[in-house]
Amino acid sequence: MKPGVLTSIELPADWSVETVLPIAFEGRELMLEAHAYQGETEEEQVLVLIHRDPNITSGSEPVPVVRIHSGCVTGDIFHSLRCDCYQQLQAALKVITEVPYGAVVYVPYHEGRGIGLFKKIKAYALQDQGFDTVEANIEVGAPIDSRDYGLTARILSDLGMSEIRLLSNNPAKEQALKAKGIRIAERLPLVIVPNKFNARYLETKRARMAHKL
Ligand SMILES: [Zn+2]
Repeated sequence: MKPGVLTSIELPADWSVETVLPIAFEGRELMLEAHAYQGETEEEQVLVLIHRDPNITSGSEPVPVVRIHSGCVTGDIFHSLRCDCYQQLQAALKVITEVPYGAVVYVPYHEGRGIGLFKKIKAYALQDQGFDTVEANIEVGAPIDSRDYGLTARILSDLGMSEIRLLSNNPAKEQALKAKGIRIAERLPLVIVPNKFNARYLETKRARMAHKL
């Protein structure tokens, strides 16, 4: 285990693989490093996309800007307007590719704050009846936020990113990472403009979940 990371996760010996991933972003091609990680269980898989300025020599990288993004099938893939995931992911990609050293840690199994796709859609149906995000999660029998950052912290440490500049509006995420031994040099906000579908969702995040929006 890397020093400073407070986790006792048992990981497979070959828990990480690496390749390069060209992506289309804002009309141009971006070449990113892609690292995939396998956690303790089959479903705990994480993708890390890293942008690294070619002029930076290995070992002298600045503190990286890092977005830890919870997977959202409806938002990230279909650009759902009920949440702000797609906008946050796009904003994060823009930031990490404009700094010399940045990364997006994409966590598919954190779907719906960790409750999964099925319960998330069930909670949406309850919101259609007037429940807010927090009330709806309670109603479907899911914790308000069941995301665990132990594996993420371990991955960051493995990548030499034990100190990061965290791209997030969520102080709880900052605290959770700190508790796992990651140093947060600063928290950088992601500013998203609400639309008529997600205005209430964003208000709940601000008012009931202490997000800095
Ligand atoms: Zn979403």
